[in-house]
Amino acid sequence: MDKNKYYRSIPKVDMLMETDEIKVLFESCSREYVLESVRNKTDQLREFINNSMSENEIENKISLLTDDIINDVEKLTSLNMKKVINGTGTILHTNLGRAVINEETAERIKNLVTGYSNLEYDLEEGARGSRYSHFEKIITKITGAEAAMAVNNNAAAVLLILSAMAKDKEVIVSRGELVEIGGSFRVPDVMMQSGGKLIEVGTTNKTHLYDYENAITENTAALLKVHTSNYKIVGFTESVPVCEIAELAHKHSIPVIEDIGSGVLVDLAKYGLGHEPTVQESVQAGADIVCFSGDKLLGGPQAGIIVGKKHLIDKIKKHPLTRALRIDKFTAIALESVFHEYIDEENAVKNVPVLKLINRNIQEIKLEAEKLYEKLIPEIGKSCLMNIEECQSQIGGGSLPLERIKSFAVSFKPLTMTTSHLEKQLRKLKTPIIGRVVNDLFIIDMRTVLEGEADQIFETFINIFN
Ligand SMILES: *Cc1c(COP(=O)(O)O)cnc(C)c1O
Repeated sequence: MDKNKYYRSIPKVDMLMETDEIKVLFESCSREYVLESVRNKTDQLREFINNSMSENEIENKISLLTDDIINDVEKLTSLNMKKVINGTGTILHTNLGRAVINEETAERIKNLVTGYSNLEYDLEEGARGSRYSHFEKIITKITGAEAAMAVNNNAAAVLLILSAMAKDKEVIVSRGELVEIGGSFRVPDVMMQSGGKLIEVGTTNKTHLYDYENAITENTAALLKVHTSNYKIVGFTESVPVCEIAELAHKHSIPVIEDIGSGVLVDLAKYGLGHEPTVQESVQAGADIVCFSGDKLLGGPQAGIIVGKKHLIDKIKKHPLTRALRIDKFTAIALESVFHEYIDEENAVKNVPVLKLINRNIQEIKLEAEKLYEKLIPEIGKSCLMNIEECQSQIGGGSLPLERIKSFAVSFKPLTMTTSHLEKQLRKLKTPIIGRVVNDLFIIDMRTVLEGEADQIFETFINIFN
């Protein structure tokens, strides 16, 4: 094969840059980036010719050069983060952005960040204020704590608390609570990073009050309780409730820190789920410092919220890490907004999307599934088998790991392609639809399909199967 003929047929970079098809790209992209793409793509083409043994393949590739460049530049100029439709039924899906926030909160963020705000400006005093001031009062009101602050996420909160309270001192933790949370947050590692010394007590399945008591020394900085939010130890088990730990600790004038993981403010048992410890309970039980996530069951932005005794919060606020881990204005606005919803619990259950999704009426979910099914059957029934299936939604986000909520899904078994091909196609859409593949069926759990999205699913399936 005369490869030289092919090398020669590749247009020169300068010439390519002068063609109309490439020149229009300058409207959306700097000349420099387009040039880089033209160079890369022609280099890759040369490489391809070098490696390929098929004249057909080579000729085809050469004819696609301009398209290749256009696609490459379009990839660069288009935005990559997008809305996806969550058909997985997992309400707090960490890969899909965890908690959804409501329109009001989004609207407030938009209004405040497109101009200046009083983020750190005290309008009463005309002087510098605190970014925590906007939500500290409301958080303390709802949780019963004396003071509050927030950092980037709960992992950061734990690191900061231990750094400020336990550096070069000992922290006593039950062996049953040395948790690892997704994304490599491990209690022993965080402890090491903070400079605190981990004193493990008890065993994996049982820890008694006397285990803590026996481990207390003059070097004890705190007793730490960590909620085992993403696993459960069942069977022959015992752990010490925080109120007993607090009583013991306070006898020795030692503070108690509790990482409760998911910051739930309402008793989920009222809504048919298992009981998840609430922030209020922890404060009331005597924990001196409590920390929790903003974007788990609380249903707010990513944040680590720290509440507790004022003198301890003041100490934490002064620690240099606080500046490094501080929340930005987007988070501050969203936190204030989401806590506002909790002034009235009934209101929170109606307005906080996470709670709304947990609490969704099962008949309504079933109806949504039936509506989608009945609309699609006459349109695509010939190319895709469909069914309505009872299924189980999960909370996700490492919260309530054993809890399943009954739900309804529409299942799809394509006849014109494989199920995995369908899954892939749905994932690559402008608005991707993410579902689950179970027993070679593509399943969309309607619980997490938000308002208006069923119509989008309908349109998409019609396009794919027609
Ligand atoms: C989720 C969780 C964390 C980490 O919280 P992020 O907000 O994701 O950083 C820490 N501790 C516990 C017990 C958790 O459940």
